[in-house]
Amino acid sequence: MRPIYLDCHATTPMDQRVLAQMLPFFSEYFGNASSVGHLYGWEAQAGIKQAREIIAIAINAKETEIIFTSGATEANNLAIKGVAEAYFDKGKHIISVQTEHKAVIEPCEYLQELGFEVTFLPVAENGLLSLDLLRNSIRDDTILVSVMAANNEIGVLQPIGKIGQICHEREVLFHTDCAQAIGKIPLDVESMNIDLMSLTAHKIYGPKGVGALYVRRRNPRVRLASQIQGGGQEKKLRSGTLCTPNIVGFGKAVEIAIALMETDNEKQKKLRNYLWNQLKNLEGVKLNGDLKQRLAGNLNISIQGVDGSALLLALQPVVAVSSGSACTSESTKPSHVLTALGHSKSLAQASLRFGIGRFNTLTEIETVAQETKKAIIALRNFH
Ligand SMILES: *Cc1c(COP(=O)(O)O)cnc(C)c1O
Repeated sequence: MRPIYLDCHATTPMDQRVLAQMLPFFSEYFGNASSVGHLYGWEAQAGIKQAREIIAIAINAKETEIIFTSGATEANNLAIKGVAEAYFDKGKHIISVQTEHKAVIEPCEYLQELGFEVTFLPVAENGLLSLDLLRNSIRDDTILVSVMAANNEIGVLQPIGKIGQICHEREVLFHTDCAQAIGKIPLDVESMNIDLMSLTAHKIYGPKGVGALYVRRRNPRVRLASQIQGGGQEKKLRSGTLCTPNIVGFGKAVEIAIALMETDNEKQKKLRNYLWNQLKNLEGVKLNGDLKQRLAGNLNISIQGVDGSALLLALQPVVAVSSGSACTSESTKPSHVLTALGHSKSLAQASLRFGIGRFNTLTEIETVAQETKKAIIALRNFH
């Protein structure tokens, strides 16, 4: 038997309804959406238009404001470097947060090398950003604030509506990485004053390799320098033949996630709370991140006095979880998110991230709770 999959912040299994929607676009409807002169092109265009509409409606945007990309990494790069390149004559200061995904931090650090100044704000012990700190960090030369909606390691939800309000008042562009948030919390680019939003399909039971950047077109109209030049697709902001099956699947995944948001969240929260209640009374177990301002399917714990990699190894046959973020778990560096919460290196390394998803069952979580308890106690006795 394969281990129980509880790593839904790294990626999710594809929903069968998504796959079914995609299949004809691999074979029958294989046309290039840029072919305007014949039926094959129109079929692909129609699939893409429908997906674009679904995604736009899901975040209260216009179809013309959705730029398809290869995922949230590319969307973050386009947003951050694209704004920097288009607005550098206005200012060279960018604000982000220490707990952001590497796909935000690395483009910011790249810009630092080019002469931009980036302020990475710290967070409180519960992972939340202080609004006063943000307000006081905005300067006359600040051109962009980038704060994620939902954290991929600790599931913490930042108050993006309030952050958007502050940015709007100060006339600074606001970008938010919503890779973990779309379909899980309500998102509205108008009421939340969001100017740029990164999305991806594979965290919501869609295919890997597709995502989008929302780019506001009025009040204000966001200028952006494209990072990939070529055939001029996606309003010249992202050249390259569109991957029709992936985009169609992305649309379907968003449609399902929006429709199931409440029921999925309710179910996942029950499973998550069950798991936490089973583990929280063990000696030295500590919750990472705020319990209330948090994604329903996320549990992240640190276990004092237990070797993190030994624990992961012990759990491997039973459950697929990760310690720290999947993107950095190949290296032995402690998670930058957990160290930003004030954890020591060893405590950050002795952490487990459970990502509960749509298809997990109570029976699975019961097994995981038992096995995790057993493994922690066994490793403790060994020392
Ligand atoms: C997964 C993830 C990304 C990267 O998305 P890809 O589509 O895999 O490039 C970026 N930000 C966050 C918060 C994520 O969870």
